[in-house]
Amino acid sequence: MKSSVCQSEIVSMKNLNNLFIEMTAKSCNQHCSHCYIDFPKYKKVEDFINIETVKQALNDTMCEDIKCIYLTGAEPMTHPDFNAILRLCLKRSDVCICTNGSFINEKKARFLKKVEDESSNEIIFKISIDHYNEEKNDYIRGRGAFRQAVFAVKHLAKYGFMPIIVCTNYYCETPSVLFENFQEILSKYSYYINSSHLQIVPWHDKTKEFSENIKYENSGLDCQYGRVLTSQGVYACPFLSDDYRGRCGSSFKNYTKRCSLETAFCQTCISAKNQIFGINFSSFEI
Ligand code: SF4
Repeated sequence: MKSSVCQSEIVSMKNLNNLFIEMTAKSCNQHCSHCYIDFPKYKKVEDFINIETVKQALNDTMCEDIKCIYLTGAEPMTHPDFNAILRLCLKRSDVCICTNGSFINEKKARFLKKVEDESSNEIIFKISIDHYNEEKNDYIRGRGAFRQAVFAVKHLAKYGFMPIIVCTNYYCETPSVLFENFQEILSKYSYYINSSHLQIVPWHDKTKEFSENIKYENSGLDCQYGRVLTSQGVYACPFLSDDYRGRCGSSFKNYTKRCSLETAFCQTCISAKNQIFGINFSSFEI
């Protein structure tokens, strides 16, 4: 009998347009019940990526067509050198900060605007809010998460940013219901979104078994357009950060552009029909 690896489909990366930098694998101030990361529940972890590793990766990818660098985590803004890494990355391309928003108050939003103004590239924000109803959101993300996120959105909007709201569709609602309700709620915080500013991603159910009959059609997977840099090396996508099944190499000097779709995460990606972590810039209605 063939092993599942032999049967799984192999995907080749088309372009390295998205460089994800995992600022920390486990440091987060929120422990959302539906998160795909397995957090150590009661231990404070400090596993931050070294700024020298980031510098090296930026040098090694100099010839690649990077369109956006994503600062991810766990919670990227817990990194003690967050500002320095942000400035470094902005010298190279637009930077997307993927955050729960809890570290963004008015002062921080003003500061981030100043940092952006000093650069020729843009700062983009992805703020995680998983439901437009505060109670339902906080049930999975923790008490106070909703307010922290919407206040971050409000402060960012005040300084001219247009954050993308990332909704993990834990409650399986239709896109139109989510959009209409998010639009209504956020307008109360002086933020008026169009459909491009709401990214709905499927919830990854960790209890779901991997099916060997995984079928992939050319649907725009994150592993086709990006790679993740972590303190442990280079991986196929944020789902597979630090997972041996997604390992692509120890650095960008010599990394593989191929990966096999052999995990339950891949099934979640394929069901999304679009990139889950990367931004589809062509969808923006300017
Ligand atoms: S989890 Fe998704 S992005 Fe990662 S390797 Fe599988 S299909 Fe590709």
